[in-house]
Amino acid sequence: MHVDASGIRKVFDLAAKMKDPINLSIGQPDFDVPVAAKQAAIDAIQAGENRYTPTQGMAPLRERLRKDLSVEFGRDVGEVLITSGVSGGLFLAILATVDPGDEVIFLDPYFVMYKHLLTMAGGTGIGVDSYPDFRFHPERVELAITPKTKVLILNSPSNPTGIVMSQAEVQAAVDLARKHNLLIVSDEIYEPFLYDAARGLPTAGKIYENTVVLRGFSKSHSMTGWRLGYAFGPAEVIAQMTKLQQYTYVCAPAPLQRAALTAIDVPMAAYVASYRLKRDLVFAELSKNFEVQKPEGAFYIFPKAPKGLTANDFVTRAIEKNVLIIPGNVFSERDTHFRISYATTEDKLAEGCRVLNSLAE
Ligand code: PMP
Repeated sequence: MHVDASGIRKVFDLAAKMKDPINLSIGQPDFDVPVAAKQAAIDAIQAGENRYTPTQGMAPLRERLRKDLSVEFGRDVGEVLITSGVSGGLFLAILATVDPGDEVIFLDPYFVMYKHLLTMAGGTGIGVDSYPDFRFHPERVELAITPKTKVLILNSPSNPTGIVMSQAEVQAAVDLARKHNLLIVSDEIYEPFLYDAARGLPTAGKIYENTVVLRGFSKSHSMTGWRLGYAFGPAEVIAQMTKLQQYTYVCAPAPLQRAALTAIDVPMAAYVASYRLKRDLVFAELSKNFEVQKPEGAFYIFPKAPKGLTANDFVTRAIEKNVLIIPGNVFSERDTHFRISYATTEDKLAEGCRVLNSLAE
Protein backbone atom coordinates (compact mmCIF):
# COMPACT_ATOMS: atom_id res chain seq x y z
CA MET A 1 0.00 0.00 0.00
CA HIS A 2 1.39 3.37 -1.00
CA VAL A 3 0.71 6.18 1.45
CA ASP A 4 2.75 9.25 0.54
CA ALA A 5 3.83 11.59 3.34
CA SER A 6 6.70 13.28 1.53
CA GLY A 7 5.37 16.87 1.35
CA ILE A 8 4.76 17.40 5.00
CA ARG A 9 7.86 15.47 6.01
CA LYS A 10 10.07 17.74 3.95
CA VAL A 11 8.65 20.77 5.73
CA PHE A 12 9.06 19.10 9.11
CA ASP A 13 12.70 18.25 8.28
CA LEU A 14 13.40 21.88 7.40
CA ALA A 15 11.45 23.08 10.42
CA ALA A 16 13.40 20.82 12.79
CA LYS A 17 16.49 22.90 12.00
CA MET A 18 14.80 26.22 12.84
CA LYS A 19 15.51 27.96 16.12
CA ASP A 20 12.43 29.57 17.70
CA PRO A 21 10.54 29.94 14.39
CA ILE A 22 7.47 32.07 13.84
CA ASN A 23 5.38 28.99 13.60
CA LEU A 24 2.28 29.50 11.47
CA SER A 25 1.88 25.80 10.74
CA ILE A 26 0.13 24.45 13.83
CA GLY A 27 -3.28 22.84 13.33
CA GLN A 28 -4.61 23.44 16.81
CA PRO A 29 -5.64 26.43 18.94
CA ASP A 30 -2.98 28.26 20.94
CA PHE A 31 -5.02 28.30 24.15
CA ASP A 32 -4.90 25.43 26.64
CA VAL A 33 -7.63 23.01 27.69
CA PRO A 34 -10.09 24.84 30.00
CA VAL A 35 -9.06 24.47 33.66
CA ALA A 36 -12.42 22.95 34.66
CA ALA A 37 -12.03 20.21 32.03
CA LYS A 38 -8.49 19.40 33.18
CA GLN A 39 -9.70 19.13 36.77
CA ALA A 40 -12.59 16.91 35.71
CA ALA A 41 -10.12 14.58 33.95
CA ILE A 42 -7.89 14.42 37.05
CA ASP A 43 -10.93 13.78 39.25
CA ALA A 44 -12.16 11.02 36.94
CA ILE A 45 -8.76 9.28 37.04
CA GLN A 46 -8.61 9.59 40.83
CA ALA A 47 -12.15 8.25 41.12
CA GLY A 48 -11.13 5.13 39.20
CA GLU A 49 -12.76 5.80 35.84
CA ASN A 50 -9.84 4.10 34.15
CA ARG A 51 -11.46 1.13 32.48
CA TYR A 52 -13.07 0.45 29.15
CA THR A 53 -16.31 2.27 28.52
CA PRO A 54 -18.95 0.74 26.27
CA THR A 55 -17.58 0.82 22.73
CA GLN A 56 -20.14 3.45 21.68
CA GLY A 57 -19.02 5.70 24.54
CA MET A 58 -20.04 6.59 28.08
CA ALA A 59 -23.83 6.88 28.42
CA PRO A 60 -23.99 10.34 30.08
CA LEU A 61 -21.80 11.88 27.37
CA ARG A 62 -23.75 10.22 24.55
CA GLU A 63 -27.07 11.31 26.07
CA ARG A 64 -25.92 14.88 26.57
CA LEU A 65 -24.64 15.17 23.01
CA ARG A 66 -27.80 13.58 21.60
CA LYS A 67 -29.91 16.12 23.51
CA ASP A 68 -27.86 19.16 22.43
CA LEU A 69 -27.50 18.02 18.81
CA SER A 70 -31.20 17.20 18.54
CA VAL A 71 -32.00 20.80 19.52
CA GLU A 72 -29.48 22.18 17.02
CA PHE A 73 -30.53 19.90 14.15
CA GLY A 74 -34.25 20.22 14.85
CA ARG A 75 -34.87 16.45 15.05
CA ASP A 76 -33.82 13.47 17.11
CA VAL A 77 -30.34 12.74 15.75
CA GLY A 78 -30.39 9.17 17.05
CA GLU A 79 -27.50 7.34 18.70
CA VAL A 80 -24.27 9.32 19.06
CA LEU A 81 -21.06 7.32 18.77
CA ILE A 82 -18.05 8.63 20.72
CA THR A 83 -14.98 8.22 18.51
CA SER A 84 -11.22 8.49 18.95
CA GLY A 85 -11.06 12.00 17.58
CA VAL A 86 -12.71 13.01 14.33
CA SER A 87 -9.90 11.02 12.69
CA GLY A 88 -11.35 7.92 14.32
CA GLY A 89 -14.83 8.90 13.12
CA LEU A 90 -13.58 9.43 9.58
CA PHE A 91 -11.77 6.12 9.54
CA LEU A 92 -14.78 4.20 10.80
CA ALA A 93 -17.21 6.02 8.48
CA ILE A 94 -15.03 5.21 5.47
CA LEU A 95 -14.39 1.60 6.49
CA ALA A 96 -18.11 1.13 7.09
CA THR A 97 -19.23 2.48 3.72
CA VAL A 98 -16.43 2.25 1.14
CA ASP A 99 -15.66 -1.04 -0.58
CA PRO A 100 -12.61 -1.71 -2.75
CA GLY A 101 -13.07 0.05 -6.09
CA ASP A 102 -15.52 2.65 -4.76
CA GLU A 103 -14.93 6.32 -5.39
CA VAL A 104 -15.28 9.14 -2.89
CA ILE A 105 -15.46 12.79 -3.87
CA PHE A 106 -14.22 15.81 -1.94
CA LEU A 107 -13.07 19.28 -2.87
CA ASP A 108 -9.40 19.94 -3.63
CA PRO A 109 -7.77 21.41 -1.52
CA TYR A 110 -8.71 18.82 1.10
CA PHE A 111 -7.75 17.67 4.58
CA VAL A 112 -4.81 15.34 3.93
CA MET A 113 -6.21 12.38 5.77
CA TYR A 114 -9.15 11.81 3.38
CA LYS A 115 -7.04 10.57 0.52
CA HIS A 116 -4.98 8.22 2.63
CA LEU A 117 -7.91 6.76 4.57
CA LEU A 118 -9.56 5.96 1.27
CA THR A 119 -6.41 4.27 0.02
CA MET A 120 -6.42 2.14 3.17
CA ALA A 121 -10.04 1.14 2.52
CA GLY A 122 -9.18 0.18 -1.08
CA GLY A 123 -11.23 3.06 -2.46
CA THR A 124 -10.20 6.02 -4.56
CA GLY A 125 -10.38 9.64 -3.50
CA ILE A 126 -11.42 12.03 -6.26
CA GLY A 127 -10.49 15.63 -5.55
CA VAL A 128 -12.62 18.18 -7.39
CA ASP A 129 -10.65 21.34 -8.07
CA SER A 130 -12.19 24.30 -6.25
CA TYR A 131 -9.62 26.97 -7.16
CA PRO A 132 -9.50 29.93 -7.10
CA ASP A 133 -12.45 30.71 -4.79
CA PHE A 134 -12.54 27.31 -2.98
CA ARG A 135 -16.35 27.27 -3.17
CA PHE A 136 -18.57 24.26 -3.87
CA HIS A 137 -19.21 24.29 -7.61
CA PRO A 138 -21.97 21.69 -8.18
CA GLU A 139 -21.36 21.43 -11.93
CA ARG A 140 -17.71 20.49 -11.36
CA VAL A 141 -18.67 17.98 -8.67
CA GLU A 142 -21.33 16.39 -10.87
CA LEU A 143 -18.79 15.86 -13.65
CA ALA A 144 -16.72 13.79 -11.21
CA ILE A 145 -19.59 11.48 -10.24
CA THR A 146 -19.49 8.00 -11.80
CA PRO A 147 -21.43 4.78 -11.12
CA LYS A 148 -18.66 3.92 -8.65
CA THR A 149 -19.15 7.05 -6.52
CA LYS A 150 -20.41 6.16 -3.04
CA VAL A 151 -19.63 9.08 -0.76
CA LEU A 152 -19.29 12.85 -0.89
CA ILE A 153 -17.11 14.27 1.90
CA LEU A 154 -17.84 17.87 2.85
CA ASN A 155 -15.56 19.81 5.18
CA SER A 156 -16.95 23.13 6.37
CA PRO A 157 -15.35 25.21 7.84
CA SER A 158 -12.51 23.92 5.71
CA ASN A 159 -8.97 22.95 6.49
CA PRO A 160 -6.91 24.40 4.73
CA THR A 161 -8.98 27.22 3.17
CA GLY A 162 -11.18 28.45 6.05
CA ILE A 163 -14.13 28.60 3.65
CA VAL A 164 -17.60 27.94 5.12
CA MET A 165 -20.24 26.49 2.82
CA SER A 166 -23.31 28.70 2.39
CA GLN A 167 -26.83 27.33 2.82
CA ALA A 168 -27.21 27.38 -0.99
CA GLU A 169 -23.99 25.41 -1.46
CA VAL A 170 -25.06 22.83 1.11
CA GLN A 171 -28.41 22.55 -0.66
CA ALA A 172 -26.65 22.04 -4.00
CA ALA A 173 -24.48 19.31 -2.48
CA VAL A 174 -27.54 17.60 -1.01
CA ASP A 175 -29.38 17.80 -4.36
CA LEU A 176 -26.47 16.02 -6.03
CA ALA A 177 -26.26 13.42 -3.27
CA ARG A 178 -30.00 12.69 -3.55
CA LYS A 179 -29.88 12.48 -7.32
CA HIS A 180 -26.92 10.08 -7.34
CA ASN A 181 -27.76 8.25 -4.11
CA LEU A 182 -24.58 9.25 -2.26
CA LEU A 183 -23.84 9.23 1.43
CA ILE A 184 -22.58 12.58 2.68
CA VAL A 185 -19.86 12.54 5.33
CA SER A 186 -19.81 16.02 6.84
CA ASP A 187 -16.57 16.82 8.66
CA GLU A 188 -17.56 19.67 10.97
CA ILE A 189 -14.63 19.63 13.37
CA TYR A 190 -14.20 23.42 13.05
CA GLU A 191 -17.91 24.14 13.63
CA PRO A 192 -17.35 26.37 16.71
CA PHE A 193 -14.95 28.60 14.76
CA LEU A 194 -17.42 30.58 12.66
CA TYR A 195 -16.79 34.27 12.14
CA ASP A 196 -19.58 35.56 9.94
CA ALA A 197 -22.45 33.10 10.07
CA ALA A 198 -24.99 34.54 12.49
CA ARG A 199 -27.29 31.54 12.64
CA GLY A 200 -24.92 28.65 12.97
CA LEU A 201 -23.29 26.33 10.48
CA PRO A 202 -25.20 25.36 7.33
CA THR A 203 -24.97 21.56 7.32
CA ALA A 204 -26.25 18.69 5.20
CA GLY A 205 -27.13 16.97 8.49
CA LYS A 206 -30.16 19.23 8.82
CA ILE A 207 -31.66 18.53 5.40
CA TYR A 208 -30.44 15.12 4.21
CA GLU A 209 -31.04 11.98 6.23
CA ASN A 210 -28.21 10.12 4.49
CA THR A 211 -25.52 12.23 6.21
CA VAL A 212 -22.94 11.16 8.77
CA VAL A 213 -21.92 14.21 10.80
CA LEU A 214 -18.50 14.18 12.46
CA ARG A 215 -17.57 16.62 15.18
CA GLY A 216 -15.13 16.62 18.08
CA PHE A 217 -13.42 18.33 20.97
CA SER A 218 -9.88 18.55 19.55
CA LYS A 219 -10.22 22.06 18.17
CA SER A 220 -13.22 23.40 20.09
CA HIS A 221 -11.51 22.85 23.45
CA SER A 222 -7.92 22.62 22.28
CA MET A 223 -7.58 18.99 23.34
CA THR A 224 -6.08 17.39 20.25
CA GLY A 225 -4.17 14.97 22.48
CA TRP A 226 -7.30 13.74 24.22
CA ARG A 227 -8.62 12.00 21.11
CA LEU A 228 -12.32 12.74 21.47
CA GLY A 229 -14.79 13.01 18.63
CA TYR A 230 -18.35 11.95 17.93
CA ALA A 231 -20.51 10.83 15.05
CA PHE A 232 -24.22 10.56 14.28
CA GLY A 233 -26.18 9.74 11.18
CA PRO A 234 -28.11 6.89 9.53
CA ALA A 235 -28.70 4.19 12.17
CA GLU A 236 -27.28 1.37 10.04
CA VAL A 237 -24.05 3.28 9.32
CA ILE A 238 -23.58 4.23 12.98
CA ALA A 239 -24.23 0.57 13.97
CA GLN A 240 -21.58 -0.60 11.49
CA MET A 241 -19.12 2.05 12.72
CA THR A 242 -19.73 0.91 16.29
CA LYS A 243 -18.99 -2.69 15.33
CA LEU A 244 -15.76 -1.61 13.63
CA GLN A 245 -14.77 0.50 16.63
CA GLN A 246 -15.04 -2.59 18.79
CA TYR A 247 -12.27 -4.23 16.75
CA THR A 248 -10.05 -1.16 16.29
CA TYR A 249 -10.09 1.67 18.83
CA VAL A 250 -12.30 -0.24 21.34
CA CYS A 251 -13.40 3.02 23.00
CA ALA A 252 -12.25 6.60 23.49
CA PRO A 253 -10.28 7.26 26.72
CA ALA A 254 -12.63 6.81 29.69
CA PRO A 255 -11.56 9.65 32.05
CA LEU A 256 -11.46 12.07 29.14
CA GLN A 257 -14.96 11.15 28.05
CA ARG A 258 -16.07 12.02 31.59
CA ALA A 259 -14.18 15.33 31.45
CA ALA A 260 -15.74 16.19 28.07
CA LEU A 261 -19.06 16.47 29.88
CA THR A 262 -17.56 19.32 31.87
CA ALA A 263 -15.88 20.84 28.81
CA ILE A 264 -19.24 21.12 27.02
CA ASP A 265 -20.39 23.65 29.59
CA VAL A 266 -17.30 25.86 29.46
CA PRO A 267 -18.06 29.01 27.46
CA MET A 268 -15.62 29.28 24.56
CA ALA A 269 -17.06 32.32 22.75
CA ALA A 270 -14.26 34.65 23.90
CA TYR A 271 -11.70 32.42 22.19
CA VAL A 272 -13.67 32.41 18.98
CA ALA A 273 -13.95 36.22 19.16
CA SER A 274 -10.18 36.48 19.58
CA TYR A 275 -9.69 34.25 16.53
CA ARG A 276 -12.02 36.47 14.52
CA LEU A 277 -9.68 39.39 15.28
CA LYS A 278 -6.67 37.32 14.22
CA ARG A 279 -8.51 36.38 11.03
CA ASP A 280 -9.15 40.08 10.35
CA LEU A 281 -5.52 40.94 11.02
CA VAL A 282 -4.00 38.25 8.82
CA PHE A 283 -6.46 38.86 5.98
CA ALA A 284 -5.92 42.64 6.03
CA GLU A 285 -2.14 42.22 6.00
CA LEU A 286 -1.87 39.53 3.35
CA SER A 287 -4.42 41.16 1.05
CA LYS A 288 -1.80 43.83 0.43
CA ASN A 289 0.44 41.53 -1.59
CA PHE A 290 -1.26 38.18 -2.02
CA GLU A 291 -4.19 36.78 -3.93
CA VAL A 292 -6.26 35.47 -1.04
CA GLN A 293 -9.84 34.53 -0.10
CA LYS A 294 -11.26 35.79 3.17
CA PRO A 295 -11.69 32.83 5.52
CA GLU A 296 -15.05 32.57 7.29
CA GLY A 297 -14.18 29.86 9.79
CA ALA A 298 -11.54 27.51 11.27
CA PHE A 299 -8.16 29.23 11.82
CA TYR A 300 -6.48 28.86 8.46
CA ILE A 301 -5.93 31.09 5.47
CA PHE A 302 -4.74 29.83 2.08
CA PRO A 303 -3.06 32.54 -0.02
CA LYS A 304 -1.48 32.08 -3.42
CA ALA A 305 2.31 32.09 -3.62
CA PRO A 306 3.45 35.37 -5.21
CA LYS A 307 5.48 36.09 -8.35
CA GLY A 308 4.58 32.81 -10.03
CA LEU A 309 6.61 30.85 -7.49
CA THR A 310 5.63 27.30 -6.63
CA ALA A 311 4.35 26.96 -3.10
CA ASN A 312 7.35 24.82 -2.19
CA ASP A 313 9.78 27.48 -3.41
CA PHE A 314 7.94 30.21 -1.53
CA VAL A 315 7.71 28.13 1.65
CA THR A 316 11.45 27.43 1.45
CA ARG A 317 12.12 31.18 1.25
CA ALA A 318 9.80 31.84 4.20
CA ILE A 319 11.55 29.16 6.24
CA GLU A 320 14.89 30.81 5.44
CA LYS A 321 13.41 33.92 7.08
CA ASN A 322 12.32 31.85 10.07
CA VAL A 323 8.58 31.72 9.23
CA LEU A 324 7.07 28.26 9.13
CA ILE A 325 4.12 27.72 6.77
CA ILE A 326 2.90 24.68 4.83
CA PRO A 327 2.99 24.31 1.04
CA GLY A 328 -0.38 23.73 -0.60
CA ASN A 329 0.62 20.53 -2.34
CA VAL A 330 0.29 18.80 1.03
CA PHE A 331 -3.48 19.45 0.67
CA SER A 332 -3.86 19.53 -3.07
CA GLU A 333 -2.84 18.34 -6.50
CA ARG A 334 -1.65 21.90 -7.06
CA ASP A 335 1.49 23.47 -5.63
CA THR A 336 0.45 27.10 -5.93
CA HIS A 337 -0.84 28.15 -2.49
CA PHE A 338 0.29 27.86 1.10
CA ARG A 339 -1.49 27.37 4.43
CA ILE A 340 -1.12 29.67 7.38
CA SER A 341 -2.58 28.79 10.75
CA TYR A 342 -3.33 32.01 12.60
CA ALA A 343 -3.82 30.20 15.89
CA THR A 344 -0.91 32.07 17.48
CA THR A 345 -0.25 35.35 19.25
CA GLU A 346 -1.01 38.62 17.48
CA ASP A 347 2.66 39.60 17.80
CA LYS A 348 3.85 36.47 16.02
CA LEU A 349 1.14 36.85 13.45
CA ALA A 350 2.03 40.47 12.72
CA GLU A 351 5.71 39.60 12.41
CA GLY A 352 4.96 36.58 10.23
CA CYS A 353 2.81 38.72 7.91
CA ARG A 354 5.54 41.36 7.75
CA VAL A 355 8.08 38.76 6.61
CA LEU A 356 5.72 37.17 4.09
CA ASN A 357 4.78 40.56 2.66
CA SER A 358 8.47 41.48 2.35
CA LEU A 359 9.02 38.29 0.33
CA ALA A 360 6.12 39.15 -1.97
CA GLU A 361 6.91 42.78 -2.71
N1 PMP B 1 -10.84 16.86 10.05
C1 PMP B 1 -10.18 17.99 9.79
C2 PMP B 1 -10.65 18.86 8.68
C3 PMP B 1 -9.05 18.35 10.55
O1 PMP B 1 -8.38 19.48 10.27
C4 PMP B 1 -8.63 17.49 11.60
C5 PMP B 1 -7.42 17.80 12.45
N2 PMP B 1 -6.42 18.52 11.91
C6 PMP B 1 -9.35 16.31 11.81
C7 PMP B 1 -10.44 16.04 11.03
C8 PMP B 1 -8.95 15.32 12.86
O2 PMP B 1 -9.05 15.80 14.14
P1 PMP B 1 -9.01 14.90 15.45
O3 PMP B 1 -8.75 13.51 15.05
O4 PMP B 1 -7.92 15.47 16.31
O5 PMP B 1 -10.35 15.07 16.10
